[in-house]
Amino acid sequence: MNKEDIAYCGLDCELCKNKFADIRQKIRILEESFEQVNIKEMIKAIPFMKFKYRGYKKLIAFFSEECPGCRDMGGNPFCGIRKCAIKRDYFTCAECNDLCNKFDSLFKIHVDNEIQTNIKLIKENGIDTIVKMKS
Ligand code: SF4
Ligand code: SF4
Repeated sequence: MNKEDIAYCGLDCELCKNKFADIRQKIRILEESFEQVNIKEMIKAIPFMKFKYRGYKKLIAFFSEECPGCRDMGGNPFCGIRKCAIKRDYFTCAECNDLCNKFDSLFKIHVDNEIQTNIKLIKENGIDTIVKMKS
């Protein structure tokens, strides 16, 4: 693993990319299945589905693109955590005393405590240790 793969919030971009690669593969299968039932024509015949189809296409487009990683401006383009850490010239939020309330919504998504665990490891042992551990 590369040091640059650790996001400002402490997430492991490599791990995230692998999860997304899995989603992308499943999306391709789903799209193929929809093509087989001619979903485009089906939607024309069932007007109430139009709106849902647009939402579906947006979702597919989001998950189909490969994320370049947090430090190359992947992920949430409006992320306040990244913005704040860059402004403070921090490599990660582990340099702050405590994780602020900008993390509240992230904790709801990452329920496996990956963020807390990684931030704690970086605080206690430094960034290079976590890079070695994950390599
Ligand atoms: S964009 Fe924000 S939430 Fe996403 S990995 Fe980067 S710092 Fe974390
Ligand atoms: S205040 Fe600290 S913990 Fe919160 S986003 Fe900024 S650097 Fe990270």
